[in-house]
Amino acid sequence: MKVVFYSSKAYDIDFFKKSPFGEQHQLNFLEVQLNTQTAVLAQGHDTVCVFVNDIVNAEVIQILADQGVKLIALRCAGFNNVDLDMAQSLGLKVVRVPAYSPYSVAEHTLALILTLNRKTHRAFNRVREGNFSLHGLMGFDLNGKTVGLIGLGKIGLVTAKILTGFGCRVLGYDINTSEEVEQLGIEFSTLDDIYSEADIISLHCPLTPQTYHLINKDVINKLKKGAMLINTSRGALVDTKAVIEALKSGQIGHLGLDVYEEEEHLFFEDLSETVIQDDVFMRLLSFNNVLITGHQAFLTSNALSNIADTSLQNISAFEEGNELVNEVKI
Ligand code: NAD
Repeated sequence: MKVVFYSSKAYDIDFFKKSPFGEQHQLNFLEVQLNTQTAVLAQGHDTVCVFVNDIVNAEVIQILADQGVKLIALRCAGFNNVDLDMAQSLGLKVVRVPAYSPYSVAEHTLALILTLNRKTHRAFNRVREGNFSLHGLMGFDLNGKTVGLIGLGKIGLVTAKILTGFGCRVLGYDINTSEEVEQLGIEFSTLDDIYSEADIISLHCPLTPQTYHLINKDVINKLKKGAMLINTSRGALVDTKAVIEALKSGQIGHLGLDVYEEEEHLFFEDLSETVIQDDVFMRLLSFNNVLITGHQAFLTSNALSNIADTSLQNISAFEEGNELVNEVKI
């Protein structure tokens, strides 16, 4: 099949070209994001392969359908950026990569927690400048702390397993339950219990209309004073302005983000030569107890290899008329 990739980076090209599942397809890589202006570039392709910040709304899907596109292949797990109703009404199928490495995101979650707690990002800079003062670098033992996980799917469970190894008490909430929750020793809890008891809260649920601004002003007021909040899932789970107020008052003591609600205007690009216009984001950067990474939690070689293989297998299954095991249905 002729596949056009949007938002391609060097690492995508490398792993997709290396995959043994790509031989039967013609792969064309574009650097531009998919949006209403760039959708026409899909002309002559059967499939578009898109990532988390590509815009796949109703208008874009209409243009894609007009160009002859029949398949939208997400090379990620989340699909909140796709208008599934529109895709279905125009007969386009949508496939995704539901699991590529929960370890990549869970381990990055721990990187954020450990860095914020032990302040290794600040220590790194200090030591390089010959400043060996320990002032302001005090952390706490993770052992014995209570961590609340919201979303106990693949990533939430791996995160729980790692935290258990650190000696943490793990509370978890999900709209579904599974046997593994009990096996891992997670205390299945209500959201309110998590909010009032957790020293650290980490979000591992998808962005849906129900989870939009899950962490808002009211919820923040229920947290333990000085709690740590970590979000590696989707930016809009958190009301950023409410979190900024909580950082100012000390209600939130540490914030670790790999995702940001307005990230599509910022992340994945080198903007170091420009003036960043997002004042909310810049305010976040001004706190020394905030650590932000630019949606890189997935970025391990293991994950990229699995993403390429599964995406190409999804495309082959569509071409061959086989069952689409990774289809996103309404
Ligand atoms: P998953 O589907 O295995 O698990 C998601 C869990 O969330 C499920 O158990 C589901 O029941 C639960 N859930 C759904 N709605 C909920 C709600 N309202 N409240 C509580 N729980 C709810 O997904 P996963 O692979 O564990 O990924 C979790 C999220 O991580 C994804 O949705 C995605 O947004 C994000 N993610 C981020 C990166 C990154 O690079 N930062 C990479 C992959 C995934």
